[in-house]
Amino acid sequence: MVGESIRAPRRLADATTKEADRWGPVLLMLPLGSTEQHGPHLPLSTDSMVAEALCSRLADRRPDLVLAPTLAFGASGEHQGFAGTLSIGTEVLARVITELVRSARGSVAGVVVVNAHGGNAEALRSASATASTDGDDLLVLSAHFPEADAHAGRTETSLLLALAPSLVRQDEAMAGNTAPLSEIAHDLRHGGVRSVSPTGVLGDPAGASAQEGEVLLAGAVDRLLGSIDERFPR
Ligand SMILES: [Zn+2]
Repeated sequence: MVGESIRAPRRLADATTKEADRWGPVLLMLPLGSTEQHGPHLPLSTDSMVAEALCSRLADRRPDLVLAPTLAFGASGEHQGFAGTLSIGTEVLARVITELVRSARGSVAGVVVVNAHGGNAEALRSASATASTDGDDLLVLSAHFPEADAHAGRTETSLLLALAPSLVRQDEAMAGNTAPLSEIAHDLRHGGVRSVSPTGVLGDPAGASAQEGEVLLAGAVDRLLGSIDERFPR
């Protein structure tokens, strides 16, 4: 019981600076999502919720992982023109990650970013390059789900049904553009998502289920944990 009561909270935001000071060599885990359209049936916070859920489950599996507040803004320029999308763009996102990593120096042994939005990849590559020049320990990981469809389709709908079913508007779910990404990549790059899918959906939510979402989450957590263990052996 005594052990329980002195155990530091594993959420950075819930801790006091005095507690954080006693943590020793912990790894700061930053969930990175987006605030962007996810079709007519999923909330704008979809990617952020997925990133946060993965990090929260990872923190349960490895006691030296401390959960930072979720960064809910990313690079979502391709979703411009859909109401509600808020993007800070690649350059600013890279800078935000760099500054957080620099600011975390001295408090933590390393930083692990867990990203759940594909559009953030370029910013993360740039932040990783800066971190290695600076000599900071930054590990960037992206959530991968096998056979995932591109956007607001079966994969993300299943994930949200597992995480926040009340936020899924099931009666609004409909198939979007189901062409493989390689076929629509050119139009996507030049005209954004709107030019290839008026509803914003790339994929088909049909068949999505909470059970499938749980399986996807469990698999992703295992793979992410493997990558963290490889880079930062316990
Ligand atoms: Zn998404």
